[in-house]
Amino acid sequence: MFLKVLFLLFLLLVCQLSVGSDEQELHDRLLVLDSHIDTPIRLVMPGFNIMERHDASTDYSQVDLPRMVDGGLDGGFWAIFTSQGDLSADGYAKAKRIAHSRANAILQLEVDYPDYFTIAKNAADAKIIVGKGRKVVYLSIENAYPLGLDVSNLREFYDLGVRMLGLVHTRNNQFADSSTDPDGPKWDGLSPLGIELVQEANKLGMIIDGSHAHDLALEQMISHSSTPVVLSHSGSKAIFDHSRNVPDDLLIKLKQSGGLIHMNSLGGYLQPIHVSPGRKMEFGKFVEDINMLEAAGSPMSYEEFRTRRGDIDLTHPSEEAHFFDYMSHFTHVLDLLGPSYVGVGADWDGGGGVIGMKDISDLRKVTEHLLHSGYTEFDLENIWGGNLLRLLRKVERRKADLGKSRSLIDK
Ligand SMILES: [Zn+2]
Repeated sequence: MFLKVLFLLFLLLVCQLSVGSDEQELHDRLLVLDSHIDTPIRLVMPGFNIMERHDASTDYSQVDLPRMVDGGLDGGFWAIFTSQGDLSADGYAKAKRIAHSRANAILQLEVDYPDYFTIAKNAADAKIIVGKGRKVVYLSIENAYPLGLDVSNLREFYDLGVRMLGLVHTRNNQFADSSTDPDGPKWDGLSPLGIELVQEANKLGMIIDGSHAHDLALEQMISHSSTPVVLSHSGSKAIFDHSRNVPDDLLIKLKQSGGLIHMNSLGGYLQPIHVSPGRKMEFGKFVEDINMLEAAGSPMSYEEFRTRRGDIDLTHPSEEAHFFDYMSHFTHVLDLLGPSYVGVGADWDGGGGVIGMKDISDLRKVTEHLLHSGYTEFDLENIWGGNLLRLLRKVERRKADLGKSRSLIDK
């Protein structure tokens, strides 16, 4: 009897191991893209090298080439992020310098490491790049603030390769209301300039990103954009009632218009996490210094970044969310919308990461969890990049249609 039980246990173990390796193989077959990679914040820092392996628990880095290989991450949208500053000529000029510094750092990946990274501009590029064994680098903007008051400035970023545009960040700006501005909405959604910007992005062929936008602004993006909207890194308000998360009724509207939500792994949006006033203050000053140095053309070194960030964590530690908190947002949204409208945008190096998935090397856990929840390889293909590329193809077709109708008018 004892031997029989032992044999059954052995079979069970072998079975589990083989399921694990099948899941690994399946993950490796997929085109795995993340819609919001904030790593350009690190790329600009002297001393940071994306070709070297880092350790998130000691040096705060979440994305580098060795770990992209470990986690099977093929690439995604690398964000040109700018913090919100004053709505003044000086503020716009400073933000534009930061935006260009980050855009250049992204473009430099292909220049410095042409055998490993390739800039992608069209939906069709991703598969070709991965086929050559390289990583996919689409460019996106997080916060349109650096464009100032002239929407035609968007063109220069399109020409650099930007194919996704997030209008706003944590505070209201000249284009849209933010979901987290302490003063509440200023425009009741989009400003007139914001509506113009959405139309300009449609014309150029950029995906509109509604993450960080106030619910009213998101609703108006959906109605004013002639192509579906993505939430490149957002969560579910039904799971955790935070203004940064999106309510079910609005997610259903998003789906009905063909839009997508990509799930964010930033702990403070996944569950209630207390942040002490001291941490808030220290962090605010830290981010201000990072921005000031970059705008002045001499970004903070990676070593100084690590030391200062480590000091903040030591004196003002923070609670963390768990992988299961992430998956509870993920599976709720999947149940609500289905696998053709959901993806991954985990906000790596921009505040994402949870206990059990501290960096991109653990991405296989998401695939494993979803397979165990009954999703198929086809579903996983859509979730990990198929949905996002389908949206980019729609945006490309719409641009072509708008171009055709303009040339008819011209005739
Ligand atoms: Zn963000």
